[in-house]
Amino acid sequence: MRLAVASGKGGTGKTTVALGLAIVAGEVTLVDCDVEEPDDHLFLGGKGDLVEEVTIPVARVDEDKCTHCGECARACVFGAIAVVKDQVIVIDDMCHGCGVCGLVCPEDAIHEERRRIGEVTLQERNGLHLYTGFLDIGQPLATPLITRLKTLAPDNGLQILDSPPGTACPVVETIKNTDHCLLVTEPTPFGLFDLTMAVDMIRELGVPFSVVVNRDREGYEEMDRYLEKEGVPVLMRIPDSMEIAKLYSRGLHFVEAMPEWRERFSRLLDELTGGGA
Ligand code: SF4
Ligand code: SF4
Repeated sequence: MRLAVASGKGGTGKTTVALGLAIVAGEVTLVDCDVEEPDDHLFLGGKGDLVEEVTIPVARVDEDKCTHCGECARACVFGAIAVVKDQVIVIDDMCHGCGVCGLVCPEDAIHEERRRIGEVTLQERNGLHLYTGFLDIGQPLATPLITRLKTLAPDNGLQILDSPPGTACPVVETIKNTDHCLLVTEPTPFGLFDLTMAVDMIRELGVPFSVVVNRDREGYEEMDRYLEKEGVPVLMRIPDSMEIAKLYSRGLHFVEAMPEWRERFSRLLDELTGGGA
């Protein structure tokens, strides 16, 4: 089973929930798809062992063959290749390696080269196998790294995917083809605004979903009204607790330190997996 844990915005406790589920799961693959700012590995300590350096293709032009006809620039929907006077320029950071320019070039003057965008590592502790994607600093293309990360991580049992925050392409890439998405939110006006966008996006993807409310407290009723109106099930509420925050600041997950929360996360996992992954 593939279970995504996502949130409309950063800082809602998405990683806390993903880790809590992974800790109680026993044998599990946790995939940190938040490749621009991965942090699940901090809980396990270290960065893990290298699994693969991830590369993507980029276009390269053979100037000896090029007649500067401009067909490639006209065909590139990403604006990644330009013909300027007697020179063809490829903007590597914008090139998606789609290969279209090579197909339309009448002189067969374009070939592919591989360019590194990041790496995937693996850590293991007590049956928890953590695959992490690290996007290289300055690289703008997170989605191809997430695609590769999902391919490398085995999904022959329970797989939990810790999504990037938001609703952009990397999030869609993480959540698509999962069996369920758990949305983590917090009861604030900003939290509600971002939750509504996340709900709209997940409905478009057709992935079943439910909600965990983190830092739950009284005084903001609009979120509950919205969830009830939309018929979105709330599977857990985690209180705004100083004890939990203190444990986390010491690098301890409250599921490990507080038996009642281990029990609650076990029940949540059972509910999500139907009692077995
Ligand atoms: S399509 Fe080929 S020949 Fe034409 S400008 Fe581009 S690389 Fe050169
Ligand atoms: S490979 Fe695709 S994205 Fe890159 S320059 Fe060619 S057409 Fe544009």
